Order: sequence, then structure tokens, then C-alpha cells
Amino acid sequence: MGGSHGATDLSYDETIARLISDGYLKSDRVIKAMRAIRREDFVPLQMRPYAWGDHPLPIGCNQTISAPHMYAIMLENANVLAGERVLEIGTGSGYGAALLSFLVGKAGKVYSLEVVHSLAESARRNIAKAGLEASVIESDGRQGYAAGAPYDKILVTAASESIPPALIKQLKTGGKMLIPVGMHFQELLLVEKTADDVMIKTLLPVVFVPLVGHSER
Ligand code: SAH
Repeated sequence: MGGSHGATDLSYDETIARLISDGYLKSDRVIKAMRAIRREDFVPLQMRPYAWGDHPLPIGCNQTISAPHMYAIMLENANVLAGERVLEIGTGSGYGAALLSFLVGKAGKVYSLEVVHSLAESARRNIAKAGLEASVIESDGRQGYAAGAPYDKILVTAASESIPPALIKQLKTGGKMLIPVGMHFQELLLVEKTADDVMIKTLLPVVFVPLVGHSER
């Protein structure tokens, strides 16, 4: 080891150790995924020295990759298992989709929806370089992706004013969705679909960039 790359790796491991001691990271599965997928591989070159920190980072096109603790919170609550079908809304850098792909494994399937063409393209490259698989589709996430439904888990990584009905419809009975709901500030909701209803649990206040339509950008 040695050199600047070694130093970056050490700091990244320290961030993960802190996420564990702060209680954000709990399960061996999610810890293993966050250790395996290196966040620095998903941020622009000039941001790499900062990739170890527990804060959001710009990824271009006015968008950000969320802070590591946010992925820890979402993944711990979603309890994504091997073989599951998962939908992510807001591909961004591809980091979240890569973590999900690692968790579902070869037997599972990850779809991720993104409205910004250049982000979708770089995310596809980032995910492939990490040796993982996810279908990145350029479309408005508020409609979900019916062709891949039903999903065991849905992770929405941009803020929504309300829970889009299409997403509830595309969730399996017994499935779980994590979604930040609100205008400027949001609450992260855990939505569980039962046979004839949805159960909604408020997890914590969060700030995500808003979900937008093609015409609003
Ligand atoms: N999960 C990402 C970060 C998400 S940032 C990562 O791991 O890096 C939110 C993303 O949602 C941005 O890339 C933004 O372009 C995208 N987005 C905004 N509105 C959207 C919509 N209606 N449908 C799909 N993606 C959307």
C-alpha cells in the first residue's frame, strides 16, 4: 500500500467504522456492501479526495450523491435480500444502484430510473466498472417502471411532494419502500404494502433534491 490511494482507503474505512459506532450501519450484509463498493469510484475525479467524508458531494448537473449515512439508513430499513427485485428512483452517480446490485446478487434484479441523460450514461459506466449489474432507464421515476414490477423494495432518492400512486401499485404485497416526502425539507418514510392497505412509518427528517419532470429541468 502507500501513496495517496492507500490514505483514501484508510479514511473510507474510518468513515464506515464511524457509521457503525454511530448506529447507522448495523447488519453484516449492509456493512459488507458499503465496504465493497468504493464511493470514490462514483464521484467526479476532482471530488475523489473528499469521497471518504460522510457528506453529500456534487456529481454534476446540479445533482449530488447522498451522504454515506443516508445510504446506510435506507439500506438498513429496506433490508434488501439476495434474489430480490429492486427499483431505485434517481440513479445519480450509480452508487446506490451498485450497492443494491451487490445486495441482491446475481439472482436478483435492480432497475434504476434517471431523468438526466448524462448522469444515466456516467452511472452505467460507473456500475459496469465496479463489476455490478443494474438496468439504468431514462424515464420519470414518478411513474415507476411497470415493465419490471412487482418489486420487493423501492428506494426513492429524490424528494417527492407525496407518495406517487404508481409506486405503491408496483410494490409487492409485503414489499417496502423508502421515500423522502415533503417540499423543502422532507421526512423519510418507510412504506410497507399489506394485502389491502399501506402502513407508513416516519423515520427521520431529511433533505433531498426534488424529483422533477423533463419539462421542469
Ligand atoms: N442515488 C443517487 C443520488 C440521487 S440524487 C446516487 O447514488 O448517486 C437524485 C437524482 O434523482 C438526480 O440524479 C436527479 O437527476 C434524479 N431525478 C430527479 N427527478 C427525477 C425523476 N422524476 N425521475 C428519475 N430521476 C430523477
